[in-house]
Amino acid sequence: MPAPRVPVELREVAEPALAPGSVLLRTLYSEVCGTDVHVWHGRLSGVPYPIIPGHVSVGVADKVCGDVHGVDGARVAEGDRLVFFDVHRTCGRCRACTVTRTPTRCEARRVYGITDSADDGLFGGWSEAIYLEPGVSIAKLPDGVPAETYISGGCGLITAVHAVDRAVLTLGDTVLVQGTGAVGLSVIALARLAGATRVIAFGAPADRLALATRMGADVVVDVGRSTPAARHEMVRDLTGGLGVDVAIEAAGSARAVEEALNLVRDGGRYVIAGHYTDAGPSTINVHEQINRKHLEVRGCWGSEVGHFVRALRLLERHHAEVPWRAIGAKTYTLADLNQALADAEAMRLPKALVQPR
Ligand SMILES: [Zn+2]
Ligand SMILES: [Zn+2]
Repeated sequence: MPAPRVPVELREVAEPALAPGSVLLRTLYSEVCGTDVHVWHGRLSGVPYPIIPGHVSVGVADKVCGDVHGVDGARVAEGDRLVFFDVHRTCGRCRACTVTRTPTRCEARRVYGITDSADDGLFGGWSEAIYLEPGVSIAKLPDGVPAETYISGGCGLITAVHAVDRAVLTLGDTVLVQGTGAVGLSVIALARLAGATRVIAFGAPADRLALATRMGADVVVDVGRSTPAARHEMVRDLTGGLGVDVAIEAAGSARAVEEALNLVRDGGRYVIAGHYTDAGPSTINVHEQINRKHLEVRGCWGSEVGHFVRALRLLERHHAEVPWRAIGAKTYTLADLNQALADAEAMRLPKALVQPR
């Protein structure tokens, strides 16, 4: 991706020299997510174009230099199917890393596919090979989990693990999920696994709502074919007039935030995970919508290694019954990446997969 708002182009680069502790990964799959579309539009600050996009990927260890161990301590060998955590550096010394323990807010945070220039090496998944530098959190893809399933869950699943953590669900909760993109779809499935007995999903278009039902939503509502007033009425009816226990936002809409604050019950919780770029201001009445309701509102920014590791465990245990694979609806080659971006932007599919070879 040479610059914002210009076509993606193919470039040949030399195979990198491997430092001790690094791995050269032969890419099996990467993905096109909402963040890639934002980066393509130039809406994320500090991106050092040209970049190789693709922050979550899966591959096979082609070359392993020296002694490399995965996050579980097991030795990594050539031929292993590997996945890795996309945040490859945080400083470990700043206030965010040490005092407030919010490493996703570390200023020195480096993320594959987003914060590294293509001039610095193979730091993105839209490439036949990826350089896993020393210190990257690597894991073997669990036996039995197809690479296609891992990447179809992809970054959305890892983000969803964090969002559902932040929601602190209680057995028997009614949960509202706003947004039926890759994050929202995984949130639906994880809310179910976390003990929600009723999941309501607001989203669009129709094919994503059908997938939301397959992921575990009990009630789906097309936001393009309903009014906020009608949705308010429906949630009241479903919850005996109380509102939902927890709402999780994965829509990236300022209006969605205004709406959810009316739909969560007194003393409930609202997690906001979908505003990765600035969607503009929301207008709320703090007295009515937060203070008097004794509401808890939580942001959720990025993810940590633990979310990645637990996403793998969830995939290992549940990949057969949760249809994560269906999220990655279509696979594109490197030659088709401009079409993949256009299709992702137009929301023609929940997620585009990238198969570089
Ligand atoms: Zn992503
Ligand atoms: Zn730091």
